[in-house]
Amino acid sequence: MSALFVDIILPVPIPQHFTYALPDDMQSRCEIGMRVVVPFGRKKFYSGIVAAIHDRLPDYDTKEVQVILDDRPVVQPLQLDFWAWMAEYYQCSPGEVYKAALPSGLKLESETVVVYNADYHEQQPLSDKEQQVADFLAQEKQCTVSDLSQATGIPNVVPVLHYLMSLGMIFVSEQLRESYKPKIVQMVALSPAVRNDDALRKAFATLERAPKQLEMVMQLMQLAGYKAALEGAAIARADLLAKGGSAAQLAELMKKGIVMQIEKVVGRIDTQLLDTLEPHPLTPVQQTAIEQLRNLFQTQHTVLLHGVTSSGKTELYIHLIHEQIAQGKQVLYLLPEIALTTQITTRLRRHFGNRLAIYHSKYSDAERVEIWNDLLAQGNFNVVLGARSAIFLPFTNLGLIIVDEEHEPSYKQYDPAPRYHARDAAMVLARLHGARVLLGTATPAIDTYHNVQTGKFGLVQLFDRYQGILMPQILVADVRDARRKKQMRSHFTPLLIEHITRALADGEQVILFQNRRGFAPYLECGQCANIPKCDHCDVSLTYHKHHHILTCHYCGATRPVPVTCPACGAPSIETRGFGTEKIEEEIKLIFPDARVARMDLDTARTRKAHEQLIHDFEQHAIDILIGTQMISKGLDFDAVSLVGILDADAMLNYPDFRAFERAFQLMAQVSGRAGRKNRQGTVILQTTNPDHPVIQQVITNNFAHHYAIQIAERETFKYPPFYRLINITLKHKDQNKTHRAADNLALALRHLFGDRVLGPQDPVIARIQNLYIRQIVLKIEKKASPARAKQLIQQAIHALVAQPEYRSLIVQIDVDPM
Ligand code: ADP
Ligand code: ZN
Repeated sequence: MSALFVDIILPVPIPQHFTYALPDDMQSRCEIGMRVVVPFGRKKFYSGIVAAIHDRLPDYDTKEVQVILDDRPVVQPLQLDFWAWMAEYYQCSPGEVYKAALPSGLKLESETVVVYNADYHEQQPLSDKEQQVADFLAQEKQCTVSDLSQATGIPNVVPVLHYLMSLGMIFVSEQLRESYKPKIVQMVALSPAVRNDDALRKAFATLERAPKQLEMVMQLMQLAGYKAALEGAAIARADLLAKGGSAAQLAELMKKGIVMQIEKVVGRIDTQLLDTLEPHPLTPVQQTAIEQLRNLFQTQHTVLLHGVTSSGKTELYIHLIHEQIAQGKQVLYLLPEIALTTQITTRLRRHFGNRLAIYHSKYSDAERVEIWNDLLAQGNFNVVLGARSAIFLPFTNLGLIIVDEEHEPSYKQYDPAPRYHARDAAMVLARLHGARVLLGTATPAIDTYHNVQTGKFGLVQLFDRYQGILMPQILVADVRDARRKKQMRSHFTPLLIEHITRALADGEQVILFQNRRGFAPYLECGQCANIPKCDHCDVSLTYHKHHHILTCHYCGATRPVPVTCPACGAPSIETRGFGTEKIEEEIKLIFPDARVARMDLDTARTRKAHEQLIHDFEQHAIDILIGTQMISKGLDFDAVSLVGILDADAMLNYPDFRAFERAFQLMAQVSGRAGRKNRQGTVILQTTNPDHPVIQQVITNNFAHHYAIQIAERETFKYPPFYRLINITLKHKDQNKTHRAADNLALALRHLFGDRVLGPQDPVIARIQNLYIRQIVLKIEKKASPARAKQLIQQAIHALVAQPEYRSLIVQIDVDPM
């Protein structure tokens, strides 16, 4: 057999594959897409993915693959192509994509099992930590990395393990693959001996003086069904005990040989077949829309479904998914994380039952591994509803990708790399599969609409709400005017108060939107105007009244609230501006009888808390819900007659070229929560600037006008979609070095790109977690080769970081920043 080599993707930020020699005994077993363990650097071991197998001897000494972890590939060739595109386009390493793509249960980092090498006898001087780990492992023989870390109290035990591995004292177990453990449930069934009428009757007779045990057998028969029980059907032990019997009685029955206990391996995901609902018949308008969609998909890869809230977009998706399944195809349905609520999952579950998988970050890793493996094996699932990372799943036969709420900026991943946009990546993924992409939204992104205008995407419009519900009436409340007349009650205009009062009197629900959490954005000294700032970041601290602390929303640092001004000593610390928490407090004072709740990152951090709030609101246990943009997504409430937008100005004044686009989207989306089912709703929009064009566009629901103005500005000022932006961010803990490095890089780039280079400048927040930040922006013409530009940028960055002075400089590239 000739020598074989493998190119491996390793979870490191170096933009290349790494070549290793494949030992003879592994050659027949190794396939592309399998995971292997390899040594890396002097002391490290990693698990990586085989990207290629070949016989080209590299011009450097290769090390050997240590272990092959899989019997069959966990990553498919098509996925590897997708990863390669992503690394290239978003300028990161293949390893960074690998880290983002695989659920951690498959990367086996903390679950990795390490084994003590019983044949190890050499005496090496070890550090205290190393000795501690070695002693522990010598005794325990094997252990997972996370357990080891816990047992020894060493938080970052991985480097220690790497070193011990390099000595040969320990090795990685082949058991790595077992890190995902299926869940086991105890089941109870009738013993085979009593599975006929006769024997059962006799058994009952023996239980005459043990009525509780008899009762338990009867319960078992009832739960399983009489006939099924006689055929050996089992029910969960927990379900049986929940009916009132005790474990002791059950043990007694087992001893008597009447029932038996069985262990059953079950998936964490409920795969019981549920009754599945046929799609609802479509209205004539919806029917026309779906026919247009089908026609457009004959010629277009991507189609935009521009439909107002409640027009039935989701209903159309459900029809299209049914069609794909009927053709044996898979569907990926993407939603922004915050829109993935129980409402939508329950709705889809009713249609697709156990063929629907739900994939997002708030699900456990075990569940994610299970979905991954199921898709690999082409098992149960053919519809995946997921947040952005679902694009990495191992689809085999994708027919359609739905990107709902396509305008949502949270489709973009900021940190860590890959800094991808899931909508844009989905289009590439679809092309690889020969699948179609459906973008859905009530407020299209400017970039997307431009693609429609230029004919790149198809367009279908749906402007009628289901059952003729009217679009809400939007009223402007002039804050400046109310202030002048001294009519404001804290942050509320008389118009808003009046409408809230009326809605509450009519037993209707109210949503108040303020896109800022906490109590007050900042504190300020009334004497010297000093504002408490974060010690690590260049931002003012946000005051949270409930916990009575100051918090940095960038790094999470907290500080006690000063009693006197830290700068001048005056006892005149005052709150400025207002967040959701303050709104909540004030609304409770004005409407003491109303049931008020708040939904923001502070109150809905967990999936459970989030769902509880939605549930309570649905059940009308809440009259007024105050929230950040979280409330603008995916909620379908019936009794909301009023939406208040408390501070439209804050959204408009944000320093970003997309601020108006974003403000329009947010206001239109939040407004869409009003009057969904019973009657026309009302939106009160508080602003000091009623004549602002965006405010006018929102009031008249005039997307066309909004688009026309925005697209003209983008062209004039050389922004996307006419130009491609690439942000280069430099970070260093030394401010001078950050500045010098940024100046050097900008200079080098200007030689190459001329006035396409902007900056360096301070970003909105110029210091985060003690790192000083400078930013350079490149504006590249759309028709220029992005690959060539990126190559030149990489070269310039390499030349910079090669200088010893800048060794700990962090340089990040963000292609198509949002
Ligand atoms: P969108 O996704 O555009 O906001 P939905 O599909 O959620 O709209 O529709 C809004 C509401 O109207 C939902 O409760 C949905 O069940 C209902 N609905 C829409 N179209 C139909 C239809 N053809 N038959 C029955 N109910 C429908
Ligand atoms: Zn901070």
